[in-house]
Amino acid sequence: MFTLSEDQIAIRDMARDFANEQIAPYAVEWDETKHFPVQTLRAAAALGMGGIYVREDVGGSGLSRLDAALIFEQLATGCPGTSAYLSIHNMSTWMIDRFGDDAQRHRWVPRLAAMAHFASYCLTEPGAGSDAAALKTKAVRHGDHYIVDGQKQFISGAGSSDIYVVMVRTGGDGPKGISTLVIEAGTPGLSFGANERKMGWNVQPTRTVTFEGVRVPVENRLGEEGEGFRIAMAGLDGGRLNIGACSLGGAQAALEKTLAYMRERKAFGKRLDEFQALQFRLADMATELEAARTFLWRAASALDAKAPDATQLCAMAKRIATDRGFEVANDALQLHGGYGYLADYGIEKIVRDLRVHQILEGTNEIMRLIVSRALIAQGN
Ligand SMILES: Cc1cc2nc3c(=O)[nH]c(=O)nc-3n(C[C@H](O)[C@H](O)[C@H](O)COP(=O)(O)OP(=O)(O)OC[C@H]3O[C@@H](n4cnc5c(N)ncnc54)[C@H](O)[C@@H]3O)c2cc1C
Repeated sequence: MFTLSEDQIAIRDMARDFANEQIAPYAVEWDETKHFPVQTLRAAAALGMGGIYVREDVGGSGLSRLDAALIFEQLATGCPGTSAYLSIHNMSTWMIDRFGDDAQRHRWVPRLAAMAHFASYCLTEPGAGSDAAALKTKAVRHGDHYIVDGQKQFISGAGSSDIYVVMVRTGGDGPKGISTLVIEAGTPGLSFGANERKMGWNVQPTRTVTFEGVRVPVENRLGEEGEGFRIAMAGLDGGRLNIGACSLGGAQAALEKTLAYMRERKAFGKRLDEFQALQFRLADMATELEAARTFLWRAASALDAKAPDATQLCAMAKRIATDRGFEVANDALQLHGGYGYLADYGIEKIVRDLRVHQILEGTNEIMRLIVSRALIAQGN
């Protein structure tokens, strides 16, 4: 577990080369212009990164969660926001591959894995964020269709995506009344709000998604009625690892930039990297990152092995990786002095991008809730 195989090293290096050549040089400009890098994402998909842990018979790469964590970390060294959109696309595509029947898998997944089509994950609502099981978007069955009404909030990729994996209420209150529908862009009654103005993640659009009398064929439902919450949470186990990996990559890039900067920058007649207080700070940053990375790999291996405590470990890993990642990036900004605050150095963008990782895919408070509930249940 602590040594990567030759294949994994090759996968990691391929993703880092891609990030260095096709993402990093453009990341600051994409952030400023709010450019969603569709062609770059398609180029990543051509290398197998559109359906990383999706089965090969529908165009996926058939790789493990650990492989995916390596890829998302490396892509995020170029731009955390770009890597994070790809991670949400992968999560949604995997949900169709894992919970769809053969007809559904063959209908949607090949184009998603190739990123001819993009996917969004639609769980959060204006009145249901952390308490996702309180969602209210309603799907009422009429013969062989559902009629969907309601609204989703904060949907990454919305308006640009072709496929929406949507959690809806088909039954009574609580998690058991939730089902998952695949809704295609262009379906009458489906509309999108304005692109939200936000602190970071400017390379990907975030919009509300509104459903007004949207007719969705029953054959678009993943799994059975009432299984939607379980499907949504299964997606998030992997999604949380991926977001954690994006934080590690952003922070790693910030650390590398800082090392280079401190070699050059002088104060009081010495290079910054000659001050022991700052050297110790660098040591702590690298140590915190390595600890979070090692733990994330452990959680990814547990998910690959379908270990009974995988959900708990993924929640722990998400919290550690996103908290440590943000702190390291913020320290990197501090070590750049005033220059860290300027957009040209690329550090403040990383800090802004990583901040939201502590909030989405379940806030870090909700990660503690998952872990503490499991602990208390074991105690009982
Ligand atoms: C840029 C961005 C992109 C996003 N992309 C998506 C997406 O693609 N798809 C999607 O479905 N969602 C997406 N989200 C939504 C995100 O997952 C939610 O914002 C998040 O789950 C928190 O929900 P909320 O914002 O409603 O906060 P709330 O649930 O209102 O929480 C407010 C605060 O209270 C805390 N809190 C709530 N309940 C508890 C509790 N029981 N114990 C302790 N603390 C608690 C929270 O941790 C938080 O600090 C995105 C959000 C952002 C900002």
